[in-house]
Amino acid sequence: METLSYKNEQISYEMIRKRIKNMYIHIKEAKVIVTIPYKMEKGKAISVVEEKKKWIFDRVRKQKQNPKEEKMTEKELEKLKQIVQEKVPFYAEKIGEYPNKVRIRDLNYAWGSCSAKKNISINEKLAKYSEREIEYVILHELCHLKHMNHSKQFWNLVEECMPDYKSIRKELK
Ligand SMILES: [Zn+2]
Repeated sequence: METLSYKNEQISYEMIRKRIKNMYIHIKEAKVIVTIPYKMEKGKAISVVEEKKKWIFDRVRKQKQNPKEEKMTEKELEKLKQIVQEKVPFYAEKIGEYPNKVRIRDLNYAWGSCSAKKNISINEKLAKYSEREIEYVILHELCHLKHMNHSKQFWNLVEECMPDYKSIRKELK
């Protein structure tokens, strides 16, 4: 373990050698791992880490403050699956439209998606969020089965099924 200091704070990091061309710094769940090529001198690697320490400390602090950035546990994922299984039929019946397929997967830029083929995807990152927030995303995507846009009619339908959706939507941003 190596130690890095910045403004009276210290963090430890692990240095690993691998058969790679360029070194890289990986920060996950507030842990720092520096991977370097076999040929690289350790002193050189340490000086590169020193140069980047402000960035490293920022990232670690952010990940500690916002654990939602971190990976979900099996238990959380199981809970998400259960909510999806229960709430999809519940809201589908209310709306009168049923999806073809519903999948939980890693979506990069959205909480959910709905295709023209009526397939719905729910972002697995929602596992870290509350039941209400998950419900909102399910409802949102189901409403797209009726309105493939964000028109006034679309939002009216969302509101009909979940009158307090606006505050939940704000939380998710
Ligand atoms: Zn939408």
